Amino acid sequence: MNLSRINEFDLIRRFSKRFSQDIPRGVIGIGDDCSVTPLSSGMSTLVTTDLLVENVHFLRWAIPAKDLGHKALAVSLSDIAAMGGRPTSAYLSLALTPDLSLEWVDDFFKGFGELASVHRVNLLGGDTTRSHHDIVINVTVIGNAQTDRVKLRSSARAGDLICVTGTLGDSAGGLHAIQNRVPETQASKFLIEQHHRPDPNLCEGEWLASHSSVGAMMDTSDGIDSDLRRIMESSDCGARVDVESVPISPELRSYAQSQLCDPTEWALTGGEDYRLLFTVCGDFLSQVCKDFRDQFHRSLFPIGEITSERGKLEYRSHGIPYRILKAGFSHFAGDFHED
Ligand code: ADP
Ligand code: MG
Repeated sequence: MNLSRINEFDLIRRFSKRFSQDIPRGVIGIGDDCSVTPLSSGMSTLVTTDLLVENVHFLRWAIPAKDLGHKALAVSLSDIAAMGGRPTSAYLSLALTPDLSLEWVDDFFKGFGELASVHRVNLLGGDTTRSHHDIVINVTVIGNAQTDRVKLRSSARAGDLICVTGTLGDSAGGLHAIQNRVPETQASKFLIEQHHRPDPNLCEGEWLASHSSVGAMMDTSDGIDSDLRRIMESSDCGARVDVESVPISPELRSYAQSQLCDPTEWALTGGEDYRLLFTVCGDFLSQVCKDFRDQFHRSLFPIGEITSERGKLEYRSHGIPYRILKAGFSHFAGDFHED
């Protein structure tokens, strides 16, 4: 059997089982947004690594080199945010094709460096090599968090409410505009910017991690239809999403209308928004929402509830069962996606 018939997550499960028994007690390995290694100081070291491959994760002709540098770091910073941590350092490995200009490389490092300095991340190493066809970028980010505050995917409980830190589907709308070479409008420009320059929710992640009423947390990288299943799997539970509560930006609504597309579908299944998806103990939701607004001057969005029906992800629209057309993004399984 070749990989085209295997889901990326089944593949990871297949080989991760083989290594799980040798992991020291207290260390969290494969299965969360970062690995977590507790230290005797009460702090934990967080590590995450991500690959960006040309024509799989980005289109060279569409993304400015500076934005690609930003995005390459942002996606890994988002994994640190997902654990409630603070990033400290990064390693960057590049496989570059000889036809790239020196200006392209300079711009890439400018984008990477600007985001790194915003979050006080030091570039400590990496590797550079030639590639014959496609650009390949690997970023590893190291961070830390107070051990007793680290947020895992496995801490959701039935009755908890599910929240996100921002609008969903913008990145998928931006990708649609790029792939269809849609003439630029204010809305499409905004969506493409979201797709090319995601904003890792680091301050929000650290803030949420300081609240014991917050249970499970992760970042949204494959679309909540896929991401929520990761929480369900790790926490042995189910979930209900109230589709009418899913936050959709005015730009996505207007763009979707102009393209005769469904913004809700993008919001549920579109990847690469890099928001935080987390659960809150129901009694504390209004307090957390109020405190979040006081702190960040914007809203949190409750979108549903964790249920005890293990493995069942249910969508409702105003109480009526709702069906989505396409599942969240997965490498290998099904047709080829450019995302
Ligand atoms: P994320 O989207 O947060 O970066 P992924 O969905 O890519 O996470 O990966 C899920 C989990 O599987 C993570 O814990 C990741 O570290 C682990 N993982 C993915 N690929 C590999 C691999 N080739 N070897 C070891 N662990 C892997
Ligand atoms: Mg992640």
